Amino acid sequence: MADYQLQLAHLYGDLMNTYGDYGNIIALRYYAKQIGVEINDQLVSLDDRFDPKAYDFVLFGGGQDYEETVVAHDLKSKADDLKEYIENDGPLLAVCGGFQLLGHYMEMADGSTVDGIGVMDHYTTNMTDDQVKTLKGSRLTGDIVIKNNETGEEYHGFENHQGRTFLGKGEKALGTVTAGQGNNGMDKTEGVIYHNVYGSYFHGPIFTRNGNLAKRVLATALTRKYPDVDWQAKLDQVPAETF
Ligand code: GLN
Repeated sequence: MADYQLQLAHLYGDLMNTYGDYGNIIALRYYAKQIGVEINDQLVSLDDRFDPKAYDFVLFGGGQDYEETVVAHDLKSKADDLKEYIENDGPLLAVCGGFQLLGHYMEMADGSTVDGIGVMDHYTTNMTDDQVKTLKGSRLTGDIVIKNNETGEEYHGFENHQGRTFLGKGEKALGTVTAGQGNNGMDKTEGVIYHNVYGSYFHGPIFTRNGNLAKRVLATALTRKYPDVDWQAKLDQVPAETF
């Protein structure tokens, strides 16, 4: 057993895993292994308790409208624990549907609305007919490039969503869109950063394609658990892979 370990929760990994979002965990394990850290992941799904003190990282992947409806119902029972985890700076990656459900609500393609848990202040609408005409299609789909204004890092991915997300109080974008559509196709924001939550519409998965972001988030999780080690310096020795 390695001296340093991170416990990961894969939230609804059996229902929310669009385009292999689990690859984000594989990417974290790839970098962690090179600095002597073991990553253990555990599925936390319907009817399971999410213990906010038990995990060092959470992945909440994307899903289709139907799966999101099923998950939204169960998620209510985990809302208080997830809020505690997030407010205590627990690192979390939320992709697409997972990102949507952490906000207030999400309007689906059929016009019905699904409640999120409102632990973050964004909300997600569907496309109006006018927007469908302007954006030439009913979904925001294709390759996307964004730039994080604080670090200057550029992230590459693929997006495929109908929902249009608008950020709220205390939320910063993960990046500014330089190619593609982003959160809503209108305001050039993509994704979110709130405490140590990273939300994004990127599949691909985002950590395999953007090793710089994977290493940044891994350093955050490790520093939170083992503050006496200079994790950033260790990870600086490991090359960031890009695909
Ligand atoms: N159903 C959501 C949408 O289309 C999320 C899709 C996804 O997770 N890829 O907006």
